[in-house]
Amino acid sequence: MNNPSQMDATLLSLLDQARQAAQNAYAPYSGFRVGAALRLTNGETVTGANVENVSYGLTLCAERSALVRAVSKFGPEIRIEAVAVANLNDAPSPPCGACRQVLAEFILPDAPVIFPADDGARTLFFRELLPLAFEMKAK
Ligand code: ZN
Repeated sequence: MNNPSQMDATLLSLLDQARQAAQNAYAPYSGFRVGAALRLTNGETVTGANVENVSYGLTLCAERSALVRAVSKFGPEIRIEAVAVANLNDAPSPPCGACRQVLAEFILPDAPVIFPADDGARTLFFRELLPLAFEMKAK
């Protein structure tokens, strides 16, 4: 995909799956129900929803929820080729910084990421969302 702003049918389908996944969110504290869908290079799609906790800092975002499911189901060799995030609040919300760093471990740099924006939805390449991910490089 050369132009991430061209929302192909598979990306829109992924967005629908993210929206569906948000139905299962556990968000009694914020009321902010989020779903994520990851399309993997093995052809599978894995979804997740946010899971809040009364100890707020323990809350797990939908993106990381989906990622943990994907690795648990298909193993550590998975690679993500597209991400969709949606919420039931119609709020503009790109993936948070923590999720970007966690996704960086498994995602292809040119993977499109579609998320809610002021004008509906916005799509960026992952490398645009997190251009300088933390890496541990030996000297
Ligand atoms: Zn997050």
